[in-house]
Amino acid sequence: MFDNLSDKLDKAFHILKGHGKITEVNVAETLKEVRRALLDADVNFKIAKDFTTKVKEKAIGQDVLTTLQPGQLLVKLVKDELTELMGGDVAGINLSGNPTVILMAGLQGSGKTTFSGKLANYLLTKKNKKPLLVACDIYRPAAIQQLYVVGDSIGVEVYSEPENKNPVEIAQNAIKHAKANGFNVVIVDTAGRLAVDAEMMDEIERVHKAIQPQETLFVVDAMTGQDAVNTAKTFNERLNFDGVILTKLDGDTRGGAAISIKSVVNKPIKFVGTGEKMDAIDVFYPIRMAERILG
Ligand code: GDP
Repeated sequence: MFDNLSDKLDKAFHILKGHGKITEVNVAETLKEVRRALLDADVNFKIAKDFTTKVKEKAIGQDVLTTLQPGQLLVKLVKDELTELMGGDVAGINLSGNPTVILMAGLQGSGKTTFSGKLANYLLTKKNKKPLLVACDIYRPAAIQQLYVVGDSIGVEVYSEPENKNPVEIAQNAIKHAKANGFNVVIVDTAGRLAVDAEMMDEIERVHKAIQPQETLFVVDAMTGQDAVNTAKTFNERLNFDGVILTKLDGDTRGGAAISIKSVVNKPIKFVGTGEKMDAIDVFYPIRMAERILG
């Protein structure tokens, strides 16, 4: 994961090695390489620029050049700033509702259905919850079928109304069903389109208003880099979502979405998907990710 970025950052810090005395020029050169590495990872230009400016200010503030191991201190400053950029602390999931309603939003193919299953499985096996999966895609019967396959594989009930073409009603009826049958989490998998379109945004906004979820999670394919960030912006403007789910991190060699999305939408990444299987889900820890990137 992000091997290129890790390699390039490693090379950037090499500039500081092999120098008897480190100068301001060496530090500036290193930070320039750090910026280049971030740009190559598909991090937005402004974010990369602000990032190195902040690290530089901190380096000056902490008198990096006069410390015993300036290289190590600079690596630490970069690590701290990366952690901050990715959200700082770990963001939990709000399970306070009775039942807790979780709405999944995102484009088709982003991994919504797979992630709905993973989340249900996580809540069932790790949080002792009784989740209900809800199929709210009224356009693609195959999507409903796919959720049944996922639900079967983890032993979680799926609610659907194949004849009903009103997703608001389906979601509301599912919540009633959950209340009547002792489910304490309702995960609503919605329809996605291949690109953002007005009808899709109106529909999910209507569902969102009607069911008032405790958690609205925006699911996005990490491999799409800056496109992921732009789509996140559009969804956030309409839904004011609570958190981001980055899927397919296992296939993401660059890392741009993971690094930039938080600072663009100001919403935390809550979970990541790291494979197709139902247990390929991880809580997102910014510090662990920063440590991994810096090796
Ligand atoms: P949806 O249209 O948003 O519901 O997307 P799906 O859940 O159907 O996922 C689309 C494709 O991505 C499927 O082939 C999934 O198996 C695959 N997928 C989903 N999440 C991950 C992940 O974390 N890693 C990998 N490698 N594949 C994933």
